[in-house]
Amino acid sequence: MSTILDGKLISSQIKNELKNKCELLGQKYGITAKLAIILVGNDPASQIYVASKQKACEYVGIQSVTVKMDECSTQEQVINQVKLLAADKSVNGLMVQLPLPKTINESEVLNAIPPEKDVDGLTVNSGGLCFFGLKGFTPCTPKGIIEILTRYNVDFCKKHAVVIGRSNMVGKPIAQKLLQLNCTVTICHSKTQNLADFTKTADILVVAVGKKHLVTADMVKPGAIVVDVGINRENGVIYGDVDFNNVSKIASMITPVPGGIGPMTVAMLLSNTYEGCLNQNNLKDEFL
Ligand code: NAD
Repeated sequence: MSTILDGKLISSQIKNELKNKCELLGQKYGITAKLAIILVGNDPASQIYVASKQKACEYVGIQSVTVKMDECSTQEQVINQVKLLAADKSVNGLMVQLPLPKTINESEVLNAIPPEKDVDGLTVNSGGLCFFGLKGFTPCTPKGIIEILTRYNVDFCKKHAVVIGRSNMVGKPIAQKLLQLNCTVTICHSKTQNLADFTKTADILVVAVGKKHLVTADMVKPGAIVVDVGINRENGVIYGDVDFNNVSKIASMITPVPGGIGPMTVAMLLSNTYEGCLNQNNLKDEFL
């Protein structure tokens, strides 16, 4: 049986660490970190995600403000709202909840976020820094994957990592991070032929597709470390991209869905916001 990589447990440890740091920041410097979220429209999943981010902020002592905008808002109106919050000195982290309504160009909106407040790490600027391995905000999900594996003492060096998915939010940045950690990386995607030929050679397999149980036990090398990013809702139940029940019998480590990468992603948003707050106040962790 595999070790279950418990994202709920690790994320709560991280949140408690951040809670202590935020308390010290307040006591020593009178500073409260602040996250601003722009939510456009009424997508039910987005509303749930934003509510969980607000709740997590409250727990650690990060102030949060959510600006709700009408489904019919124009791209210009959303960009103007981004610019307003970008100019607000009290805001340390700024994110736009995705997806945006189809009439709005996501990239135009995201790239209006200044790099120093881009806590979701989804601007071209942050992507470039991540690609070059320079200091900047890493998107929360890839950051959460590396964090949980590191806290379970995974040794990345010389491992063959296979990533399924090539999105800007997950697939591409996690592949970069694994490369920087000295993995040999293969990226698979919707046009990959004979997916199992690649997945069977993976020491570390990261699956970020959005297809329930795409990865079955016969596609996984015994002893592999399996990270399931997928969130697939069916009749009110959430499933991952990996057939957990069977893959967990042969993997050495595996993340569950729910309770794996999801809570880690939220914890990393808090961590990035805290980091943004320190940077914007010319402070470092060791000053606390
Ligand atoms: P996306 O739709 O942008 O990308 C999906 C990727 O999967 C694409 O690159 C595509 O090439 C690839 N793909 C599609 N069908 C495939 C197939 N049959 N074989 C191989 N590759 C295939 O999605 P995303 O934003 O990267 O998210 C992926 C999944 O992860 C979704 O289920 C999403 O809900 C979930 N997600 C979870 C978290 C979290 O916090 N747990 C965060 C972000 C995304």
